[in-house]
Amino acid sequence: MIMPRKSARQKIREFLEANVGKVITTRQIREIAGISEYARRIRELRNDEGMQIKTHIDRADLKPGEYILESLNRTPVISQNISPALRNQILERNGNTCQLCGAGPGDPDPFTPSRKVRLHIDHITPRSQGGTDNPDNLRVLCSACNQGRSNIQQPSESALNLIARIRRAPRSVKREIYDMLKGSFQERD
Ligand SMILES: [Zn+2]
Repeated sequence: MIMPRKSARQKIREFLEANVGKVITTRQIREIAGISEYARRIRELRNDEGMQIKTHIDRADLKPGEYILESLNRTPVISQNISPALRNQILERNGNTCQLCGAGPGDPDPFTPSRKVRLHIDHITPRSQGGTDNPDNLRVLCSACNQGRSNIQQPSESALNLIARIRRAPRSVKREIYDMLKGSFQERD
């Protein structure tokens, strides 16, 4: 009978669990796993599985290249991504419009005009500061605003609401609004 081969992640998990509380070196991990790209596996075990693996960044008594699994208990894993349903709910609520600059999908990126703007769901209070996935804490931002690159003057709240409504409207309605605005501004010039 052929036994299924263990994955590198599985081998590292078992090795750490067999040596809980002991200092492990990267050399040992490399040998056990049979791969040199073990760092990503360690990250997955920590972030996706909640294993309490510590490094010299977490503990002053560890040297670089040393790890320790502190406990067999797992910490609760916080999902990194909001669900597609929630994402759609926020996009719909914000009218597919960046809540800082008013950009929408298909608009050119203000800093790389050859690229199109991408919309992200932003946590108003970041998760790292205790922000939750509650819809009140979520908003749509474009890639530029999300990275803090945009210093465009922020549209007023009423302008943002209108922009969001116009984006949802059919193209023919957008054209009507455009013609109306163009006409009214030309008259004044
Ligand atoms: Zn923006």
